[in-house]
Amino acid sequence: MKVCKFGGSSLANAEQLNKVMDIVLADPARRIVVVSAPGKRDSGDTKVTDLLISLADAASTGGDCSLQLNAVVERYAEIACDLDLGDEITERIRKDLEDRVAKVADLSKPEFMDLLKAAGEDNNAKLVAVAFEKRGKKARYANPKDTGMVLKGDFGDATLDPDSYTTLSRAFSNFDGIVVYPGFFGYTKEGKVATFPRGGSDITGSILAAAVCADVYENFTDVDSVYPCDPRIVEEVKDGEGIPTMTYREMRELAYAGFGVFNDDAVIPAVRARIPINIRNTNHPSEPGTMIQQSRRVVPGTVVGIASADGFVNIVVEKYLMNREIGFGRRLLQVLEEEGISYEHMPSGVDSQCVVVKEQFLPKEREHKIVGAIKRELNPDFVTVERDLTMLMVVGEGMCYTPGMLAKACLALASAGISMSMVNQGSSEVSFMIAIRSQDRDAAVKALYKAFFG
Ligand code: ASP
Repeated sequence: MKVCKFGGSSLANAEQLNKVMDIVLADPARRIVVVSAPGKRDSGDTKVTDLLISLADAASTGGDCSLQLNAVVERYAEIACDLDLGDEITERIRKDLEDRVAKVADLSKPEFMDLLKAAGEDNNAKLVAVAFEKRGKKARYANPKDTGMVLKGDFGDATLDPDSYTTLSRAFSNFDGIVVYPGFFGYTKEGKVATFPRGGSDITGSILAAAVCADVYENFTDVDSVYPCDPRIVEEVKDGEGIPTMTYREMRELAYAGFGVFNDDAVIPAVRARIPINIRNTNHPSEPGTMIQQSRRVVPGTVVGIASADGFVNIVVEKYLMNREIGFGRRLLQVLEEEGISYEHMPSGVDSQCVVVKEQFLPKEREHKIVGAIKRELNPDFVTVERDLTMLMVVGEGMCYTPGMLAKACLALASAGISMSMVNQGSSEVSFMIAIRSQDRDAAVKALYKAFFG
């Protein structure tokens, strides 16, 4: 069985929805279809989820919100009309939205916001089920409450209650036809609607794939495959090949440094259950896309991708004879822990220790306080803070046991006149990190792409 998830751009209008139905019907194994709310029809358009957020805001202020409500209904009405589904589904959606809006006085703002945000996916799943039936296919809408998608945590940032897996797998053990399932939300134990973070339909798909032990989790979006580096930086990457297969480890390393196909947290359920994830394009369904799995055939000496992420800060602590001082590293990290700062990398020299953190944890305003605490706790000779750093990640299982991979990267950067600020490679050898000044980022990514893929 396959679980397939379609994002908002794949469901933005009737034409896209027809493509989705063609894809699902082309393979009888595609039994569970997870849908997002309708997304943007063009670059100037607004996603239904954003329209719903505006509706929730307007309703919360107590004024007339019929304009905002109509804007949402219009999006579904257009699709229903173009697919000739009749007026009933649109009227059901209008009624559903009115019922939700009427709850404004009974709920806290975050609860009310989630109730409205969830309406995008919920109503779309109902509409998509009707569209399948119009094509004469047996399809039904499944509700996250009835199937046991129990969430916990904060509204707007909920996570799955792990006990849900048993109920979810039972809910799907006995069904025929196609099940259309709304992404992005579930219910708390108390029966309240709660949503995952934005983009959370990916999480729903991943959870269901794990719950039913799917053969594959197909994530349909609008790219043919994952590119080996950011096409906004290296345009010619689009003319080359996408990544046919990568391992979970490679995906994680690349996602860490900004490969944004989907949020890597979203796929944790599928990864833990060892379900292969296939990223595919709704607009080019014949393309095999990128398959992400536990292992793959690896060609020694090859790299799968090059990622870059801006916004890092390096705290450099220097102290003569630091290497003899037992507990120095622990006390340094303790200062950061007490300040709630998570660290990313820790390259070191004999008498110096660097700690790389994300800029968001150490904005300029906090620098004085943190540096002061480090000075008090460790009595160093110098503490300096370097800002505007970019991390380059070169990733590939094929680098393991292959001499010269880092040398190749260094040579490429040297030839481009780029100085490296730090280098870090773990013993897994599946990736290495090179820190550079952010102003050199584009030139560096281009140089590395040419060296490894050119
Ligand atoms: N519709 C929601 C959003 O725009 C969730 C999703 O599409 O995955 O964030």
